[in-house]
Amino acid sequence: MGVTSPRCIAVLGGSFDPVHNGHVALAGYFARLLVPDEMRIIPAGQPWQKQGLQTLPAHRVEMARIAFRHLAVPVTIDEQEIRRTGATYSIDTLRALREELGPDASISFLMGADQLQKLQTWKDWQALFELAHLCAASRPGYGIDDTRIAPEVAREFARRAATPEQIRHTPKGLAYVATNLAVDISATQIRAALEQDGDVASLIPAGVLDYIQQHHLYRN
Ligand code: ATP
Repeated sequence: MGVTSPRCIAVLGGSFDPVHNGHVALAGYFARLLVPDEMRIIPAGQPWQKQGLQTLPAHRVEMARIAFRHLAVPVTIDEQEIRRTGATYSIDTLRALREELGPDASISFLMGADQLQKLQTWKDWQALFELAHLCAASRPGYGIDDTRIAPEVAREFARRAATPEQIRHTPKGLAYVATNLAVDISATQIRAALEQDGDVASLIPAGVLDYIQQHHLYRN
């Protein structure tokens, strides 16, 4: 019997309200870098740091399905955070994923620079490394230099810095920062534009725009 290497899973959580080309670029970047066996997309239920989401989970799930369907690696839309009642914390999601995937799988939790900037405020943020790798990417408007990242977060990322190859072959505990992603798009900007009937065709995948129009979303 051949020896199969443990699975490598990349995880992207978000409110995806709506999903946009910045999310697709972030997932695509790490799909190319890590070549995971699966990209796991996890739409948020009710994120604890955000005000209420504007769009029903079923719509956000469907838009995510449309947006990520052409990614170069297999994609799964995971509805665990939507099913969970009460506040959602990444630590709980990663614990559930580790339970599901077993101790040997390589799990990489992806985030943009805005999240890296406030990682120290996340519940049990240091314990995230006991469950997964953390991979962050630059984002216009959110610096990732030492003046923007909390010293304790910068220290952990420096101490745990690893290559994509090491990340693929280790279950957890490593860190990676991609400095060359520069997609200046946010869901906030898209919601505002849609409310004014603005043109967002260059900001979101065409199929997502069709979906938004068909369901009359973000019109207030
Ligand atoms: P909002 O404007 O509503 O706050 P958002 O555009 O930041 O939303 P989220 O769904 O909150 O989108 O983001 C999910 C994840 O994707 C987060 O880790 C976030 O940092 C990352 N992300 C979102 N947009 C970008 C972008 N343009 N470049 C890199 N990462 C991004």
